[in-house]
Amino acid sequence: MQYYDSNTVLYLNGKFIKAAEAKTDLYGQSLHYGYAVFEGIRAYNTHNGTRIFKAREHYERLKRSAELMHIPFPYDIEELIKQTYKLLKKNNLKDAYVRPLIYCAPNMSLVPATEASILICAWEWGAYLGSSLQKVCISSYQRPNPKSTHVEAKASGHYVNSILATTEAKIKGFDEAILLDMNNNIAEASGANVFIEKKGKLYTPPLGNILPGITRATVIQLCKTLDIECIEKHLSTDDLRNADSAFLCGTAAEIAGISTVDEVTLPTAWTESLGATLQRTYKALVLEKQNYEVII
Ligand code: PMP
Repeated sequence: MQYYDSNTVLYLNGKFIKAAEAKTDLYGQSLHYGYAVFEGIRAYNTHNGTRIFKAREHYERLKRSAELMHIPFPYDIEELIKQTYKLLKKNNLKDAYVRPLIYCAPNMSLVPATEASILICAWEWGAYLGSSLQKVCISSYQRPNPKSTHVEAKASGHYVNSILATTEAKIKGFDEAILLDMNNNIAEASGANVFIEKKGKLYTPPLGNILPGITRATVIQLCKTLDIECIEKHLSTDDLRNADSAFLCGTAAEIAGISTVDEVTLPTAWTESLGATLQRTYKALVLEKQNYEVII
């Protein structure tokens, strides 16, 4: 995967510079300790032009992540959104993934950051999990315990856990890992939230031990408009294994159906599932094909 070429421009601390010429310091807490926060945002080529989906929500979560991690966030959210649109334009990107990262100034001690930098880069990106249904396994790795970190923050260091889980899943021949929380309830996938369908209703783990996904919140909203009952409650591994259907959702993954859990096939065909209806509705929403503004 090539993320940039000699023409690519990125946004660094208020300036647009060539990605190939950008530099960073190697003596920082972000590189050494994973002490940084980031976002994953998508822009879509809609009939209204390039539109960043839920830009404000993503930058607000970035701010919240920084606050929880004691990383300075001296930025104005509206200004960041404006600069992100400029970045897309400068790189001639229409369908893109946008990655803002706040990383800390050189310092090797284990103290809160007093100075940080903001990088925003973007690249063209198709379906993150591919378009086929996902074969998932229950991971032997748990998500970080909320008493060991702020799990609701999108902090760089948390993703070592995600890399371990996807590595294990792929070695075993699966596409994705479903991680449990410290009570052995279903938490989330390595980079997406989980929903299950049972007897015509949807269920998803409550906030607390998961990243509060912006797609998850969108799906819950869409369920209200589509009159689908969606219940937030703790789910066991048996709830997932005995589900009629299930799906993952996230900015990168969008809505991705699950075909098997630990090699057991979920009985409802994806095309007949509530997830498939939500997948279609979500696509229409991000592409602004229907006017959902009143309800979302
Ligand atoms: N959980 C984790 C661990 C993630 O990395 C992501 C992706 N940001 C999600 C859930 C989904 O969040 P969102 O819908 O905001 O992309």
